[in-house]
Amino acid sequence: MNPAEAYEAVIGLEIHVQLKTHSKLFCACRNRFGDPPNVHTCPVCLGMPGALPVLNGAAVHRAVRTAVALGCRVNHRSRFARKNYFYPDLPKGYQISQYDQPLAENGELPFYVDGERHTVGIERVHLEEDAGKSVHDGLPGTEDGALVDLNRCGVPLVEIVSAHDLRSPEAAHAFLMILRSTLRYLSVTDASMEEGSLRCDANVSVRRRGEAGLNPKTEIKNVNSFRFVRRALRFEIEHQVGRLEAGQPLLQSTKLWDERSDRTVAMRSKEEARDYRYFPEPDLVPIQIGEAEIEAAVGSVPELPTARIERFRDAFSLPLADAATLVEDGAIADYFEALVAAGVGPSEASNWVRVRVMRWLNERGWQMSEFPVTEPQLADLLRAARVGTISVATAEEVLAKMIATGQTSEKIIEDESLRQISRDEDLAPLVEQVLRSHQDEVAAFRAGRGQVFGFLMGEIMKASHGKANPELAKTLLSAGLEE
Ligand code: ZN
Ligand code: MN
Repeated sequence: MNPAEAYEAVIGLEIHVQLKTHSKLFCACRNRFGDPPNVHTCPVCLGMPGALPVLNGAAVHRAVRTAVALGCRVNHRSRFARKNYFYPDLPKGYQISQYDQPLAENGELPFYVDGERHTVGIERVHLEEDAGKSVHDGLPGTEDGALVDLNRCGVPLVEIVSAHDLRSPEAAHAFLMILRSTLRYLSVTDASMEEGSLRCDANVSVRRRGEAGLNPKTEIKNVNSFRFVRRALRFEIEHQVGRLEAGQPLLQSTKLWDERSDRTVAMRSKEEARDYRYFPEPDLVPIQIGEAEIEAAVGSVPELPTARIERFRDAFSLPLADAATLVEDGAIADYFEALVAAGVGPSEASNWVRVRVMRWLNERGWQMSEFPVTEPQLADLLRAARVGTISVATAEEVLAKMIATGQTSEKIIEDESLRQISRDEDLAPLVEQVLRSHQDEVAAFRAGRGQVFGFLMGEIMKASHGKANPELAKTLLSAGLEE
């Protein structure tokens, strides 16, 4: 057996998600990305002695909404704890987090890997504050030096900890995709890895298949894209299997993913929880969440991506992979559903959205909301193709013109005389002319060379500038060849 197949990976993920709120978690400073350094700070988030935190209720609401969407039990009473460590981007010398009494526990998130349904346990969802950011690119105008930007310090985060239920880098990747999509459906976050509003730590160990115990794990910190999570896990699994095969022990360690060398590199030996000297935060009262608030949160959760994928598959008979592509971005899924509601067949709507509309979005860097052709306008265009007013190839051309000019498909089809030639009396003369000017091919066809038919069809399409209705052309050509 190939050594890799004798082992399985045991993977758990810890995801930090910045909540989209107006202000920070414990002060009134703006929670906003992209401003000049250190403009959103105050005595509370700078950790000045005597400054007291005040909890942001909107952040709690969003965290509760996230927790119930992930199927967690929300604790009626949870509390904050201080997690003590020293780092330049943490002015207080501790992070206000949650430890022994988290906001919520015991959820699960279903998702698909390669068409197969999996469920990953969610161990806990808790609230905490973000740290600032160290910038190591050097001070302006100097060769070296580091900056600390505290705009991010105190921004609300939810930390989502998965159970160790993931068994492959591909499963970890698929889980992250559906989690990000779920968080966006909830409108609790931008969940943008580029802006750091979603960050992932992955821990992984390997064991021989059939073993139940766990080997020491490696934690891979702060991987900044889903693709890199998959690569880092693949690399680390191979490394650990190599050690076991060589008779070397696995060691608990913390590593970083190094994009440039395409490998994980050691960072430090892992802290134990006791190194953080957790203790209850004395400046904040416990969070109390009543049953009514939990019920309201449950009621505010929309249909989530996995359920929507399954509905698209079942109600519209779409392949699962196509449904998943449509559903990932809720606005794209809405657009698809509006096309179907406007009378476009589900598989036609799916094709147009996944292939053409999404290509336009990618090329132009548009969000779905920026796409200039509305659902009823696209439905009109597709109806024109369906009833034969224009060909499918022409429909693509017309869509490009609708995007460029903002005009309706009807007007473009009229103005540019793009109507398909669909009437016998209009197309017959063209077919006759093609037959007359290709007498050798006609003779060859009649002598049994059937493939000449395609050539003659091509000539008819050419002569009609692509406007001949292909079905009608076929019928007329067959009739003409039989004479
Ligand atoms: Zn502040
Ligand atoms: Mn954390």
